[in-house]
Amino acid sequence: MTEATRAPEPTDSSYSGSYEYLVTDSYVCPHCGRVEERPYRVRLIILTCPECGENGRFLHESLVDRLDTVPEPQRPEEWTEMPLDERLQYAVREGLLDVSFTGPI
Ligand SMILES: [Zn+2]
Repeated sequence: MTEATRAPEPTDSSYSGSYEYLVTDSYVCPHCGRVEERPYRVRLIILTCPECGENGRFLHESLVDRLDTVPEPQRPEEWTEMPLDERLQYAVREGLLDVSFTGPI
């Protein structure tokens, strides 16, 4: 082996660009609560969960927080058994939360 094939070291000047693409947000599996990091900055993403194997709408963590603000008397009986995305859909439909279901954060 020779060292002649080593790639040249990058120079500092090539690293002046933005690192914005490294910023990720947390998305929560509606079924099991597994958190996935993605750089998309949207309200929800459709993923097959590596944890529970369900294909579902992963909710941005800020939306999961919003679900907690729905007052208990206004939650349906099966609230705790509903997947997170159904809870969100319910809350929006009933006017309990003022969020749109799609679009940028
Ligand atoms: Zn899951």
